[in-house]
Amino acid sequence: MVHDLIVIGGGPAGLTAGVYARTRNLSTLILEAEQAGGQLSWLYPTKSVYDYPSYIAIEGHELGQLFVEHARVSGVEVREGETVEEVRRGPKAFEVRTSKGVYEGRAVIVAIGNGPFNPRVLEIPGETEHEGRGVHYRVRDRRSFKGHCVLVVGGGDSALEIALEVVAPAKEVTLVHRRAEFRAMEKNVQAVQKSPVNVLFNSELVSIEDVDGRLDAVVYNNMTLEKVVKRVDSIIINVGFEPLQTKVERWGLELEGARNIKVRPDMSTSVPGVFACGDAVWYPSKEKRIVTGCGEAVTAVISVYKYLKAPYWA
Ligand SMILES: Cc1cc2nc3c(=O)[nH]c(=O)nc-3n(C[C@H](O)[C@H](O)[C@H](O)COP(=O)(O)OP(=O)(O)OC[C@H]3O[C@@H](n4cnc5c(N)ncnc54)[C@H](O)[C@@H]3O)c2cc1C
Repeated sequence: MVHDLIVIGGGPAGLTAGVYARTRNLSTLILEAEQAGGQLSWLYPTKSVYDYPSYIAIEGHELGQLFVEHARVSGVEVREGETVEEVRRGPKAFEVRTSKGVYEGRAVIVAIGNGPFNPRVLEIPGETEHEGRGVHYRVRDRRSFKGHCVLVVGGGDSALEIALEVVAPAKEVTLVHRRAEFRAMEKNVQAVQKSPVNVLFNSELVSIEDVDGRLDAVVYNNMTLEKVVKRVDSIIINVGFEPLQTKVERWGLELEGARNIKVRPDMSTSVPGVFACGDAVWYPSKEKRIVTGCGEAVTAVISVYKYLKAPYWA
C-alpha cells in the first residue's frame, strides 16, 4: 500500500501532523523508533508541563498519550518500535526503510526531534560506579524519590524543572549550580525561589562516595574554595545532552550544523516532497517547544496537501 503521507517520529509534532493530515483525508502512517508521545513520554513522563495552552498543568506522559490517542482516533496508523534508517525516492513514491520493513509514501514529514542522545556526564570520581544505583540522569517516575534527600546538578530549565518535580515527594532537595545565577526561564527561577529547594550557587559536585548505602556528595564552592559533604540518597545530574550520530544526514536533506534540518517558511526541505517540523528543524529564531512544533506540523501538512494535489485549487 502506498500511503499519502509517512511521518517519521511520533512526538507532539509528528502526531499533530497526523491529526491534521486526517482532516484532509490523507492516509497517514507514523513510524516511531521508541514510544509514541515523544520526549514527553520517554524523557520526562512525570514532569508537569505548564505552558501547553488549555492545560494549566499536565504531566508529560499524560499529555503525550493524549496526542497519541487523538492521532489514532483520527485514523492515523501509528507503528512504534520502528526506527527509520533510510528514505529514498522510488519510481512511484518515497521508500521509507525501517528496522522492520519498507513502507511507501507519496510525501514524507520528518519529525524526529533532536534524534538520539546520551546525557552529558560530569566525569567525576564515583559517578559511573553509582549510575542507576543512586546516580540518575533523568526522572522516570518522581515517586521513586519519595522520602529521599536529593541533590540535583545543573542550572538550566531542565535541572530547575527536575528539582521542582521531585521536591514534593522528596524529603529534601538541593540544587547545585556552578554559576552565580541560573540560565533558565524567569517562571522556573521564580518557582524555585518560592519552593523549599535549597540552592547552592557557584558550586560544583566534584566526587561521589558510597557510605552505608547512602551517598556522600562532595560539593566544591568555586568562590570560597571550600568543600562541603552532603549525605544524600539520590543525585540527579542534568547538565545537557551529547547528541549521537544519526542517519538523517544520509537522507540527502540540507542541514544546519550537524543535525538540524533546514526548512523554508512552508516547512519544505531541500528535497521536494519531504517536509519537516518540530525540534528537528532549523530556521531563524526557531524555538524548541511543544506548541511551536505543533504549529509547524500544521504548516507542513498544508504544504504536503498542496504538493500532492498540485495544481492546488484553493
Ligand atoms: C527535560 C525537558 C523538559 C521539557 N519541558 C517542556 C515544557 O514544559 N514545555 C514545552 O513546550 N517543551 C518542553 N520541552 C521541549 C519539548 O519536549 C520538545 O520541544 C518537544 O518534545 C518536541 O517535539 P517533537 O515532536 O519535535 O520531538 P520529540 O518529542 O523528540 O519526538 C520525536 C520522536 O521521533 C522519534 N524518532 C527519532 N528518530 C527516529 C527515527 N529515525 N525513526 C523513527 N522515529 C524516530 C523519537 O523516538 C521521538 O519519539 C522539554 C524538553 C526537555 C528535554
